[in-house]
Amino acid sequence: MPTVLITGANRGIGLEFARQYTADGWGVIGAARRPDAASELHRLGVEVQKLDAADPASIAALAASLGERPIDLLIANAGVFGGNDLDPVAWEEVLRTNLIGPTLLAQALRPNVAASGLKRMVALTSAMASIAETGGGQIPYRSSKAALNMAWRNLALEYARDGIAVAVISPGWVQTDMGGPNASISAEESVAGMRRVIDTLSPRQSGRFLSWDGRELPW
Ligand code: NDP
Repeated sequence: MPTVLITGANRGIGLEFARQYTADGWGVIGAARRPDAASELHRLGVEVQKLDAADPASIAALAASLGERPIDLLIANAGVFGGNDLDPVAWEEVLRTNLIGPTLLAQALRPNVAASGLKRMVALTSAMASIAETGGGQIPYRSSKAALNMAWRNLALEYARDGIAVAVISPGWVQTDMGGPNASISAEESVAGMRRVIDTLSPRQSGRFLSWDGRELPW
């Protein structure tokens, strides 16, 4: 069975990915900031690895711990919403977590994904990243995800020579700690939809900005 590595796997959308891929018999590696506190992942029997997505040293340590293990699917899911004000320190933290971390992780695990059967990488973006359709406000979050889209679009071009398919996927507005209880869909529904999108991701569709329900979103 294929192996998936999910960041921010201890709660929310990441935990639901871990649940669904475990139920389907995949090998699941769940990365979390605090492995000891990731009780749901341990209960699922998932292999838990330590990762602070905002810390380049932690990314390098995870890559070293994985060695040459093939990773069929990388899901760069960990993310933060941050505040609405332009506090530079808080904004930097959002950029480190949502943009720089996932992109450095893709670079670090490129050989692992290239050595796998499926060769797929996705990052969780947001419809709020769309420059074409932006509604104003939340500049730190929107800018971090728009920049993530740009970074991963370029990874798609670069990694095509390894046969790796890359996409950024918006999960919809999802009932999690981030999305809140009034969000429009459950994590179960969002992840089921994203898994269908990921299942059909081929090198020909690499570099797209996709929605959980398969629609293509405007940049
Ligand atoms: P949650 O806030 O519910 O969970 C966020 C997860 O990311 C947690 O596991 C958290 O770990 C982890 N995380 C945050 N910062 C770090 C870090 N520095 N290192 C490692 N892990 C970290 O969010 P969701 O599950 O809702 O969101 C998942 C992804 O989907 C995010 O990228 C988000 O931007 C995106 N998204 C979500 C939407 C929604 O409506 N929910 C809408 C659009 C996009 P910890 O427990 O340690 O804090």
